[in-house]
Amino acid sequence: MTQDKVSENALLVALQTKNISDSELHLDLEELAFLASSAGANVVHRAIQKRKDPDSATFIGKGKAREIAAFADEMDCNVVIFDNNLSPAQARNLSDFFHVKVIDRTQLILDIFAQRARTKEGKLQVELAQLQYLLPRLVGQQTEMMRQSGGIGTKGPGEKKLEVQRRRINDRIALLKRELTKVKAKRHEQRKRRKAIPVPVVGIVGYTNAGKSTLLNTLTNAGVLAENKLFATLDPTTRRVVLPDKRVVLFSDTVGFINKLPHTLIAAFRATLEEVCEADILIHVIDIAHPDREKQIDAVHEVLRELDVFDKPILNVFNKIDQVSHAETDFLVEKYQPSVAISALRGHCLNDLLRSVSWILKKEYMTASIFLPYEEYSKVQYIFSCAEILQQKHEETGIYMQISMPKRFFYLIKNFEVDDVQYQN
Ligand code: GDP
Ligand code: MG
Repeated sequence: MTQDKVSENALLVALQTKNISDSELHLDLEELAFLASSAGANVVHRAIQKRKDPDSATFIGKGKAREIAAFADEMDCNVVIFDNNLSPAQARNLSDFFHVKVIDRTQLILDIFAQRARTKEGKLQVELAQLQYLLPRLVGQQTEMMRQSGGIGTKGPGEKKLEVQRRRINDRIALLKRELTKVKAKRHEQRKRRKAIPVPVVGIVGYTNAGKSTLLNTLTNAGVLAENKLFATLDPTTRRVVLPDKRVVLFSDTVGFINKLPHTLIAAFRATLEEVCEADILIHVIDIAHPDREKQIDAVHEVLRELDVFDKPILNVFNKIDQVSHAETDFLVEKYQPSVAISALRGHCLNDLLRSVSWILKKEYMTASIFLPYEEYSKVQYIFSCAEILQQKHEETGIYMQISMPKRFFYLIKNFEVDDVQYQN
């Protein structure tokens, strides 16, 4: 889909097994349609197959595959998208039934990621994930290509071509891995440098389309892409924000989480998610107007747990309050503590949000008494961007200070720490 994503007609296929309710299926398909249009496709039909269990060979069963394939031809579809993830064997078998491309949910998400990746590392990781996903599914793709070029009966040469193709992909995978190692080393260096500047980081997380980029946009006029498409942000965008208590923090936007995000993708997107791992606190933006909001909250929590960051301080931010009643907002704010309710788009209640961030951050601060010789002052001056000077007293050779600063930056001033300073003024 990456090549000509403008006018592709897509047919969506979902399987309803015995443990999936009608409403669940409906919301899943809604999301898939949203994903497909984010990738630039035009959804022309949604097909549903009911079965007790998925068919191990063809997922939806042969009869249904034939029926949908005929319908796809009739509707002039260019691509058939399965709502679930197909095994390599299922993908290969299904491609025998269809005259057009068959992709699954993971491939669709990867396609969107590929369109949106902006950093070098992001691009390398998406390509790597795409090739690794493609490799075991190659036969189907090959058959598809042969069919398109009218190569009926070319099985022998086709097989040989497939071998060549496989080897090429393996070479490319090896190259991408080497490149990634280099880029990672460089990024590690950059992060170490940034870490030395003691500004607390607020990681913005949340389900995709919750309004994370809009929030950062409104807060900082940062010009961060905010649009009604999934994954409008792939690479983290970080902006400086001054809190009401004058402390400076960095707000870092992240890629949205999504239901059924496969493990392979989580691994591939560590680059964006690593920002989350290093944040001092997280704000979890929730689309309060979404019918499935509580399920989305759970999906985000699950990913945060997987990343091992669930024990960080988290502020729940209910967004889009312009679209629901006060009573509903009050109910959720009460249920999920600590929380605030805002409208990122309209700029409503953003001060409540910032005050809550200050309040939570304060708990991450510690107070210390230090003596800073004048000749050292200029060297460590930068730490005061995040520190609050509670008291100070100038002496002949330096300054006694009592300061409050984030615990994790304390090591920067540890050498200057003194006990029992008597402050006169
Ligand atoms: P992200 O995927 O979480 O970064 O979401 P975006 O910031 O791209 O926003 C997704 C959509 O929600 C956009 O169409 C926004 O205009 C819309 N949106 C964001 N905040 C609000 C809000 O407070 N009220 C309403 N009604 N829409 C909002
Ligand atoms: Mg975004």
